[in-house]
Amino acid sequence: MKPLDILEVLPRSLWVTTCNSGSCNGCDIEVVATLGPRYDIERFGMKLVGTPRHADVMIVTGPVTRFMREKVKRIYSQMPDPKVVIVVGNCGCSGDVFYKSYNLVGPVDNIIPVDVYVHGCAPRPEAIIEGVTKAVLKLESLRKKEPVSNVVETVGEPVAGEVAL
Ligand code: SF4
Repeated sequence: MKPLDILEVLPRSLWVTTCNSGSCNGCDIEVVATLGPRYDIERFGMKLVGTPRHADVMIVTGPVTRFMREKVKRIYSQMPDPKVVIVVGNCGCSGDVFYKSYNLVGPVDNIIPVDVYVHGCAPRPEAIIEGVTKAVLKLESLRKKEPVSNVVETVGEPVAGEVAL
C-alpha cells in the first residue's frame, strides 16, 4: 500500500498499546521497527501510549502463556470502547509451532476478541502497517456505529505447517 493510500484510511490518530503475551521478542522487534525512523508510522498518526486506558488499538504478540492470560484480559478490559485488537505474528494467530505446548492457553482469540490477524514469523513492518489500516477502517465503523462485518481481516499468508488449535 502506498503512503497516500494509507492517508486516505487514517482519518484520525490511532493511540496504541502493546502486549507481549509470551512472544520470543521477534514480533516485538518488528513492531518497534514499524514505529522507528525507517517506517515511521507515527507520521500517519499512530502513537504508542503509556496506558491501555488511553488506547484505541491493542497490538498483541505471542501465543498467550498461562501466566499472561489474566493480564491480557485485564489490559483489554481497561481500554475504552470502541477498540480493536491486532494480533501480530503466527504465534498469536494460531500458536504456530508451539500450539501443543502444555503452557499455552492461546491463541489470542481464545482469550479476547481479535479484529485483525497479521501472519508471519515475524511479519515485516509493511504487513503490520497494512494490518493497522484494516484496524482503522474497523475502528471508524465502530465510531460511526455502522454495521460491522464479523469477518476478521487477515494480512499475509499463513505459513506452511501452521496449525490452528
Ligand atoms: S511468530 Fe515468530 S517471531 Fe513472532 S513470537 Fe512467534 S516465533 Fe517469535
